[in-house]
Amino acid sequence: MSKLRVTVNHNKCVGSQLCVQFLPAVFKLNEKGQSVIITTKEIDQQSIISTAEQCPQCAIKVLDADTGEVFFPPAELEF
Ligand code: SF4
Repeated sequence: MSKLRVTVNHNKCVGSQLCVQFLPAVFKLNEKGQSVIITTKEIDQQSIISTAEQCPQCAIKVLDADTGEVFFPPAELEF
């Protein structure tokens, strides 16, 4: 399985906490009320992508850490 890189775009994140509720081992809110990554170790790719899909702001990006291939979001959801 690919090693994942997960980022949160703080220009988009509004602190809805949905990602924290879905995957509290991966996401937490920082002191500004925006989501940051704790770790992506031992989290399967589909769980991360499913959570990213729930973000109302499409702020979570999931990439292959080695190749840079973007697993989520698809290009049409980038804004
Ligand atoms: S679900 Fe999206 S908008 Fe809500 S806290 Fe997470 S990254 Fe931010």
